[in-house]
Amino acid sequence: MRMRMPLSVLTAAGLSLTALGLGTAPATAAPVDAASYAAYDGSPEEAAANRAFFEAVLKSAAEKRAANPTSAAAVTVVYNASRAPSFATQIARSAQIWNGSVSNVRLQAGTSGADFSYYEGNDSRGSYASTDGHGRGYIFLDYRQNQTYDSTRVTAHETGHVLGLPDHYSGPCSELMSGGGPGTSCTNAYPNSAERSRVNQLWANGFAAALDKAEKALQKSSR
Ligand SMILES: [Zn+2]
Repeated sequence: MRMRMPLSVLTAAGLSLTALGLGTAPATAAPVDAASYAAYDGSPEEAAANRAFFEAVLKSAAEKRAANPTSAAAVTVVYNASRAPSFATQIARSAQIWNGSVSNVRLQAGTSGADFSYYEGNDSRGSYASTDGHGRGYIFLDYRQNQTYDSTRVTAHETGHVLGLPDHYSGPCSELMSGGGPGTSCTNAYPNSAERSRVNQLWANGFAAALDKAEKALQKSSR
């Protein structure tokens, strides 16, 4: 059972996820869509959630670029880390790792107009990437799991979902998307070469398609 609640409602009310006990409360009528970091076999629901997350971020970045065209090759994805203050170091490190690993997409910290956000709290599912009820992506970082597993690896792994990578729990420690699969002793927080090229490919081809769609929508609305 998974708790689903539009985060915008919570933030509008000024309540923290922890205060609400989000994750321990019984599920509402919303769909199951979360992928826990430590899970050993990804369910179709988890894969769908990761996919939905990537598409939400892609769409958000494409809409911004359609409105403000630029010739820059790399797509900038803005993240808001202000709701996960305990993980500020790991989030910054994760962005640094990804920015040093791929060339077609760039992660940038910012509070206004963010394409996705990080949240922190306690959740029996562990950490995951998902979307809220409004098609916006977020990453949830679980306290206990981040003490059990290498916290930078957990953060970089979840951020890998933002960039379009699926889970692959059966992979080795050298693979970032193997997540908790290789066990708690694995501290590698870097994507391997296959993961790097996959992300570059997704942000070259996938983004072009999303941008095309966003441009068409923009033209339609300005008519
Ligand atoms: Zn994952």
